[in-house]
Amino acid sequence: MVMTIVENEVQIPGQIVVLDPQDGSTVGTVPAASKADAERAVDFASRAFESYRTLPANVRSSALAEVAKLLHEEREEFSRLIAREGIKTIREARREVARCVNTLKLSAEEVSRLTGETIPFDQAEGSENRVGYYRRIPLGVVVAITPFNDPLNLVAHKIGPAIAAGNAVILKPHSETPLSAQRLVNLFARTGLPAGLLQMLTGRGSEIGDTLVSDPRVRMISFTGGKDVGKHIQAIAGVKKLAMELGSSCPVIVFPDADEALALDASISGAFWAAGQNCLHVQRLLLHETIFDDFARQFCQRATALRVGNKLDDATDMGPMINEQAAKKLEALVVDALDSGASLLCGGRRQGNVFFPTVLANVDPTCAIAEEEVFGPVTILERFNSVEEAIAKANSVDHGLQAGIFTRDLNIAFRVADALDCGGVMINDSSDFRIDAMPFGGTKGSGIGREGVAHAAREMSDVKTYCFNLQQSVGCETDL
Ligand code: NAD
Repeated sequence: MVMTIVENEVQIPGQIVVLDPQDGSTVGTVPAASKADAERAVDFASRAFESYRTLPANVRSSALAEVAKLLHEEREEFSRLIAREGIKTIREARREVARCVNTLKLSAEEVSRLTGETIPFDQAEGSENRVGYYRRIPLGVVVAITPFNDPLNLVAHKIGPAIAAGNAVILKPHSETPLSAQRLVNLFARTGLPAGLLQMLTGRGSEIGDTLVSDPRVRMISFTGGKDVGKHIQAIAGVKKLAMELGSSCPVIVFPDADEALALDASISGAFWAAGQNCLHVQRLLLHETIFDDFARQFCQRATALRVGNKLDDATDMGPMINEQAAKKLEALVVDALDSGASLLCGGRRQGNVFFPTVLANVDPTCAIAEEEVFGPVTILERFNSVEEAIAKANSVDHGLQAGIFTRDLNIAFRVADALDCGGVMINDSSDFRIDAMPFGGTKGSGIGREGVAHAAREMSDVKTYCFNLQQSVGCETDL
């Protein structure tokens, strides 16, 4: 058999070998689906949806609840798999699995909350005899495309609500981290969910993506990933629903009255969680002029003290980047900023695909790093002197996922939270705070639509209206 090594990927015809980004060891293999496989998956999903479109809500809910239970029982095996195939440390992976159990439980519960309501048709003159209601119906076939950085919970954020709403789902996980997703999908096979309502296609987006995305039988694409792929999907999808969970460059603003210890703890975690490969990553830390020097010094001390190393060791704080190409891309962004006059406060070093925690200041606003998502362990410190300046700096990029504000002043908190152009503002937390039940998504270049189980389930369903035109007197009259 012919084998070629391309970056972090060993290619065997028809298969994808999943490598641990830490040491290049093989974690597992999955099939590399072809265009024909993608077409077959859509055929099968369409037929399964037609057969099971009236599948009772209790069957869908029980399947989701059962998978949440099985996942909890196998949580340590799942955590180790996430930590091996991807970039997370074992502690980060355990947290992801616990959240995923919750996402699936929420999805099971959401089945019974997907209700409609009655419509007062008699409000319109001439419609006095009409009564009716609307209810939620599934869309049909939903294609879910997921990124590498949260390889399990972001999968659950798509397949959980899609099944809750009664759709047939085709999941396409990232080709570098498909194994935890595959194991999750296998858990569904142990429930009463009919075959075909959930399928997984492992393969490269460049090979099978267009076939899945452009098929008119697919009614929705739920995509989480980078802006470039998101734009491409939007251009070729045709008439269908789109959910786009894209990247960001999240700001965190620290005012002089903030609880400094709280702001430091939260910003360090938000900046370096998953080695910065996190859409909620604290990319820009805006510090009031009066606290800048002291906060910057402590932030760098904490960043430098993070233990970077073996992902499976409980003591490790930060793992590698997904591949050397991603680490080199980040290095180029940092070098470009330094060449344009930025100050390197700590880090800036790359070793293979490990990029050490890095803090920059005095970044020229025209540099690529000032606008682009870094998606790695680099944070830029900026000064501000007034509330208006902080708001203007925070809003200055074409991203708007989440932001954080640290202040004890309620008036400032409300004013700034209202003025920030993004999908969520965390007050006295970093941008990197999320629970799986809350609405989640971005404005501007950060995307379209909202996830969070209840919101996603609504986006993954349609509203159907029923109206009964009742006659004043009907045939079967009685003596009453
Ligand atoms: P990516 O865009 O490279 O890949 C995402 C998915 O798209 C993968 O499954 C990939 O195989 C697939 N894909 C690639 N080409 C395709 C095509 N032509 N058609 C269809 N699918 C295709 O993103 P990534 O590197 O895995 O993830 C990082 C990005 O995801 C970052 O920008 C990050 O901010 C973003 N992200 C956003 C959120 C959010 O909730 N907003 C969460 C996590 C990650």
